[in-house]
Amino acid sequence: SVRFEGVVKDFAGHRALADFDLTLHAGEFVALLGPSGSGKTTALRVLAGLESTDAGTIRIDGTDVSTLPTSRRDLGMVFQSYSLFPHLSAGENVEFGLRMRKVRGEERRARAAAALALVGLDAHYDRFAHQLSGGQQQRVALARALVTEPRVLLLDEPLSALDAQVRVALREEIRRIQTELGITTLFVTHDQDEALAVADRVAVMRDGSIEQIGAPEELYTRPASSFIADFVGLSN
Ligand code: ATP
Repeated sequence: SVRFEGVVKDFAGHRALADFDLTLHAGEFVALLGPSGSGKTTALRVLAGLESTDAGTIRIDGTDVSTLPTSRRDLGMVFQSYSLFPHLSAGENVEFGLRMRKVRGEERRARAAAALALVGLDAHYDRFAHQLSGGQQQRVALARALVTEPRVLLLDEPLSALDAQVRVALREEIRRIQTELGITTLFVTHDQDEALAVADRVAVMRDGSIEQIGAPEELYTRPASSFIADFVGLSN
């Protein structure tokens, strides 16, 4: 599980996270939804250790992560923009994280191939990243995030650079893989359709904290405020 308790993050006088509380149960898929600037990416970045916090605690499986660098938090991450090395093959990109962990050649290739198979790209091991479509590149990024078998998967708008059709197909694919692996997942998006379609629970952020969290149907039928009702599209 992942637990944020009373987390505060200030940027030069601007409070990006204000008493932020959120629990992700083991194996759960939680979408963090909210308007631009509400603090979604900041929440993900403090969990990853890419930003420090000013107050509060973050625990992964009960361990306070404040003293652990990013590399020791046991997370897989996928970002919006393609972060692959364009001059490496899909397989080499996936192998990269294992190379850092000193996994040997043979095992490295086998695990990278298995991760690419998981995202449906086993036939593309030797293809250069720059020869892949945007959707395929994000699949490779997902394989790279999962190949180290992390405890938690962090997805920051992984679909938003893709066109509508690919976006819908890939979100279903991500959900299928997440369920298959049972990996605890935090999915940041500003797209309510996306959040409501894939998540077990949706946490709606406003001004640095969570205004409401619940199952998609709960947000539809029992919005806690007019902000939530507007945001999940009820008043339109
Ligand atoms: P978006 O959907 O636009 O990415 P978001 O909900 O992810 O928005 P954050 O990126 O977490 O929001 O930003 C929250 C607030 O913190 C914003 O007001 C933003 O300008 C501010 N902020 C984020 N990172 C920094 C930074 N490195 N320096 C200064 N301010 C920052």
